[in-house]
Amino acid sequence: MERTAPAKVGHLFVLISYPCWRCFDDRRWIPDWVVNKPPKRSGSHFPPTSVPSQRRTTMSDSAAGLSFIIVGASVSGLATTISLKNSGHSVLVLEKDPQLGGAASGFNACARICPNGSKILLDWGLLEAETKAKAAPMPGFAFLKYNAGYSEGSEPDFLGENRWNEDLLFETRGGYMQFRHQDLMRILYDEAMRDSSSRVSVCFGAEVVNVDCDACEVTLSSGEVHTADAIIGADGPNGIVRRTLLEEEGESHESDALTGMALYSAIIPKALVYEHGLAPWFYEFDDIGSGIWVGPGRSAWIFPVGGENDLALTVYTPDSMQDGSWTEPAETKLMDVIGKCDIRLKKLASLAQDVTCVQIKNPYNLESWVSESGRVMVLGEAAHPSPPSGFHPYSIALEDAAFIGKIFSHTRDPDRVPEFLSAFQEHREQRCSRIREVDMEYVEAATCEGEMHDQRDAGMRANHAAGRNAMEGDFQQMLEDYSVIFGYSASDDADEWWINWGRYRPTKTESGEEEQPRINHMSFFSSIVSSTTDETEYYEE
Ligand SMILES: Cc1cc2nc3c(=O)[nH]c(=O)nc-3n(C[C@H](O)[C@H](O)[C@H](O)COP(=O)(O)OP(=O)(O)OC[C@H]3O[C@@H](n4cnc5c(N)ncnc54)[C@H](O)[C@@H]3O)c2cc1C
Repeated sequence: MERTAPAKVGHLFVLISYPCWRCFDDRRWIPDWVVNKPPKRSGSHFPPTSVPSQRRTTMSDSAAGLSFIIVGASVSGLATTISLKNSGHSVLVLEKDPQLGGAASGFNACARICPNGSKILLDWGLLEAETKAKAAPMPGFAFLKYNAGYSEGSEPDFLGENRWNEDLLFETRGGYMQFRHQDLMRILYDEAMRDSSSRVSVCFGAEVVNVDCDACEVTLSSGEVHTADAIIGADGPNGIVRRTLLEEEGESHESDALTGMALYSAIIPKALVYEHGLAPWFYEFDDIGSGIWVGPGRSAWIFPVGGENDLALTVYTPDSMQDGSWTEPAETKLMDVIGKCDIRLKKLASLAQDVTCVQIKNPYNLESWVSESGRVMVLGEAAHPSPPSGFHPYSIALEDAAFIGKIFSHTRDPDRVPEFLSAFQEHREQRCSRIREVDMEYVEAATCEGEMHDQRDAGMRANHAAGRNAMEGDFQQMLEDYSVIFGYSASDDADEWWINWGRYRPTKTESGEEEQPRINHMSFFSSIVSSTTDETEYYEE
């Protein structure tokens, strides 16, 4: 069915009869080769274990690989489970919520996966057509003014657009896709549990209340105690494992600083958008389908999400003191914090139900992601909390998972756990910290005030008039960041560590014998000459 866009709405909304929604809906921005490429699977699988039923359990059987406890069954926890399982290790996942996604099902919002994340799903064989159908594509996004178009009959003030370069997506082996959080969780959970021969157990309603880093042991609220060769905290920014490591550094969550901004988030069903006559503005303009409405002080980001292409609406506002979460309702109505804005935006916001509110914080940077004992580590949001609803948190959670699983594919030796966990931080910290800055830069650019605001709008308008990407010039660095961020391969990075460092250390075989490293003299030489002094010292230790 062809649809007709409204007659005169800035540059983008020209009168055309076009099959754009069909283009937009056919997920062409999740390239076919993303789906057609045969999945790579690595590692071996082990016979099944049941959930330990004793009051005290010890996961240890060197022939079966190392034993890991993962605290938290969200994106990082489940993805890390897949990755460690693929490397032949045993994993016990402990999740405090009683079910997958917990209370979040009512507040389901948007999981954005950039190419650096989607290539990991691809490598795990998780981008079959069925999975792809659960994601909305994102060919790019338009920029519009938040603080214009106030009256009925006015037009949205269009500034320009950013389209992903197809060559870039091809070279980086990824598509840009947006799942419902809940759907992504289901995909990851099913894969973690797939293959009954694997040694994976996921326990819901299992809240960890204490972590003993020296004993490598966790205690649940039920009193159960579990031990393992390593504990991985994938328990988010307020989790117990992060808290334990903060305490080791003499800090607490109090050390996180508020930015004064909060994020309101909701999903608005597509049918409701059509019913209220808002489709021309949010669906039927061009094939881009996503919009960032920029203002001074506030900003709204609207993206299609999930197989149904509902709309994920997120509003950045300075008007909330609630220290909320993804699983509890916002205390203030969205309409009370949205402020003066475009009339279409206001109408869309009025349709939002089940809204959540999450504060944007500048978190304390843990100096060490690994405990002093060397056996307890954090990753994902627990290691590097992101601004909520940023472009990158989900993808870097997948990267963390892919990296840790890949390096642990090289050992079954419990004595090497501290070294491997430290290698994770050494390789991942700088990238995650830069990506956090990039995500904050988007929020700042979309909400800036005064001279910066005027310059931003003028620059985007000029770019658009000249047929250029709206972000060229003033936001050139952000465009260049995309290539670096999208092009990264966590798996290659993990290989790099192993080839240059990891394999030169003695390791125990499964029978417990010490195996001397096999030194390839060419690689040995090149690793020395390409290393810094510190790294050389590390090698010679
Ligand atoms: C329910 C939920 C819904 C979300 N929805 C969105 C969204 O719509 N949009 C968005 O941008 N981001 C959302 N997020 C955040 C998003 O998941 C993260 O930004 C990131 O992508 C991955 O985070 P993570 O897996 O490292 O940590 P998180 O997603 O924060 O998960 C941490 C997990 O650890 C569990 N946990 C915490 N403490 C304990 C404990 N003591 N014992 C056992 N388990 C524990 C939590 O219940 C949770 O499942 C959501 C997070 C959650 C938990």
